[in-house]
Amino acid sequence: MKGRTAFITGASSGIGREIAIRFAKDGGRVVVVDVREDPKSGERYDTDVSTPTHEIIQTEHDTEALFIETDVSAEEQVKQAVTKTADEFGGIDILVNNAGIHIPGSSQDLSKDDWDSIVGVNLDGYFLTTKYAIPHLIESDLGRIVNVSSINAKFGGIGPAYAATKAGIVNLTRDIAIELAAENVTVNAVLPGVIKTPLQDLNDDDVMDLMRQKTPLPRLGEPRDIANAVRFFASPEAEWITGAQLVVDGGYVAGGL
Ligand code: NAD
Repeated sequence: MKGRTAFITGASSGIGREIAIRFAKDGGRVVVVDVREDPKSGERYDTDVSTPTHEIIQTEHDTEALFIETDVSAEEQVKQAVTKTADEFGGIDILVNNAGIHIPGSSQDLSKDDWDSIVGVNLDGYFLTTKYAIPHLIESDLGRIVNVSSINAKFGGIGPAYAATKAGIVNLTRDIAIELAAENVTVNAVLPGVIKTPLQDLNDDDVMDLMRQKTPLPRLGEPRDIANAVRFFASPEAEWITGAQLVVDGGYVAGGL
């Protein structure tokens, strides 16, 4: 990771925060791209987090980090964040699209505004960062895009907008993989199972128990499980893998539903 710059969305909290810290531990420069600077504090997980990701990296790791307040669904903000990253760090080697939201409810519960919010972050956001980062990624010796989707890309039952956007990310990954193959930039997706982050505040204890039962390995996922997979796709060892999806779910999908 030394000498490489990673632009990571949603890196103030949960999975994105862990990805950012993991890259920094390995010597990478990190840009934390998020609507908020302070980490989300969950009711069940990450109850005691307070220090912003970029401050942890600056004080505990021998590398540089930058926070850029950005709503990934807003085109002008994404454009500015990419420009600022290029100005500060000279380019972008790795784009990690991770910022995502979920609003629970069926088609009858969700308003059109809810739908637009979810699609705005989970799909528009991934497209916009990709669009504006590509000119920098193709200049890199080891250009990489890693998209965080979800096992909910593979089945229904979570709510229409989340399910549709997470499946959309998988095919966006394939499409951009083809677009960038000649440039030797790889594009892959990680599909997390149930991970212990503040996002789980959306679920009550009964749902958490059920998801634990449906996870065959003897624990729920930790953010590091996803960070390890993202780190692999970003590494030189993954140089001939593109357009792929890696399920990281403790066996949830393998066990059927
Ligand atoms: P989280 O809620 O803990 O953290 C998400 C981060 O994204 C927050 O810091 C938030 O401020 C940021 N964010 C939200 N909207 C944004 C926007 N418009 N612009 C920029 N940043 C924004 O969530 P998490 O569990 O860490 O989830 C990260 C990703 O992993 C999401 O894409 C989520 O769908 C996916 N995922 C999570 C799980 C899980 O079990 N936690 C499972 C499957 C997939």
